[in-house]
Amino acid sequence: MDQFTLPYDVSLCCDTLRQAGHPAHPVGGCVRDLLLGRIPGDWDLCTSALPEQTASLFPNVALTGAKHGTITVLTGTGPIEVTTFRADGPYSDGRRPDTVMFCRSLEQDLARRDFTVNAMALDEDGHVVDLFGGQADLNAQILRCIGDPNRRFEEDGLRMFRAIRFQAQLGFQLTEDTIAAIRRQAHKAVSLSRERVRTEVEKALLSPQPAKAALFFHLGLMTSCAQGQPAPLDCLAALPPETYVRWAGLCGALLERGAIPTCAQFLTALRLDGGTRRACAAGEVLWREGLPNTTHQWRHTLARFGRAACRAAAAMAGPAPLEELDALLSQAPCITVGQLALSGGELASFGLAGRDIGRAQAKLLAHVLDFPQDNTRERLLQVLATGQESQNGSKSLPSALHEDHHPLVQPSRRPGKGPHN
Ligand code: ATP
Ligand code: MG
Repeated sequence: MDQFTLPYDVSLCCDTLRQAGHPAHPVGGCVRDLLLGRIPGDWDLCTSALPEQTASLFPNVALTGAKHGTITVLTGTGPIEVTTFRADGPYSDGRRPDTVMFCRSLEQDLARRDFTVNAMALDEDGHVVDLFGGQADLNAQILRCIGDPNRRFEEDGLRMFRAIRFQAQLGFQLTEDTIAAIRRQAHKAVSLSRERVRTEVEKALLSPQPAKAALFFHLGLMTSCAQGQPAPLDCLAALPPETYVRWAGLCGALLERGAIPTCAQFLTALRLDGGTRRACAAGEVLWREGLPNTTHQWRHTLARFGRAACRAAAAMAGPAPLEELDALLSQAPCITVGQLALSGGELASFGLAGRDIGRAQAKLLAHVLDFPQDNTRERLLQVLATGQESQNGSKSLPSALHEDHHPLVQPSRRPGKGPHN
């Protein structure tokens, strides 16, 4: 029989509650993860202590969830959520119980949880308390609701998203009746908080089996933000597990099938952060234009769109273009004036001022995008001095400076006295 040793702070938290006369148990996801040999992402305890009793036992607590029975105990190694044993009252909003009833029994508390694999606890000796067949389902890799899935999803629509997310994270199968219940209750999804939905979809996208995120669409949970199905998502697993990259991959699959009008609309509907939205929206412009074919073209495109938008566009097209782009980026190519081997300060020390510095930098960058090996101080000074033309025919800095009668190339002129000043 499994017996688990807990991290020091979790163990101390349990002991503190028990010494005050309150049974206390690690519960839910942390027990599931221990049984799977994974390191728990967070630790939850359940206890018979009422929230105010829990709060009085610890020096550092946050009271944000107290209404629903949760006190967050702040420890040196992270927060621990301590929730009073509870049974949920009726649900009328499809997400949260109207009332929660604190109770004395672990059994009732376990019965309100979503899936059998999430409804196990540890007793004082570190043994697993498993009243609903969680371990058997864990071994068989099955995700099964506690009780009637139809009723459980009707109570709280977020559980449908959790089911698909766990399937992607754990690689488990949903039971037939669970899938049927999701189809039946999918209409409930529209009333859920978009942030909550986003969190679950994102966890699925970042999981080892991101292709499973297609189920959110196939089972009808995303009708408020997409009007159809994505192209198969099998390629997502080969994209690096970075948040905006995986979202871009999903957007690409949706755009391909015309299931969303634009990335911006889809990502805004799901309340994605500004960084992800901007990268994907700009990436979409490039994706629609067509991706560059050569590293030379990619450097120019990187200078125009920026790194994040280019990576998003590449991810929309699939793992191979992104791999190619990342290989180029790993060589730290100069794609911004800030990366030029000649700084704005140095240009100023040569007598350039104001807009002329920007103009000089733009010309040098244009040169370096064509001739990346020229990004050395020495070579850039030569470029400035000789007025070398860049490969694509655009004039580089010195010739332009000649045209501008700039002091750098017309040393006889004193700075600040040129015709353009
Ligand atoms: P994660 O690895 O993402 O933390 P988790 O299963 O631990 O997954 P939490 O959101 O941390 O998920 O919730 C902790 C536990 O609370 C769950 O394991 C489950 O027992 C219970 N729980 C969470 N959300 C729900 C819900 N919507 N309905 C029923 N029980 C829930
Ligand atoms: Mg958890």
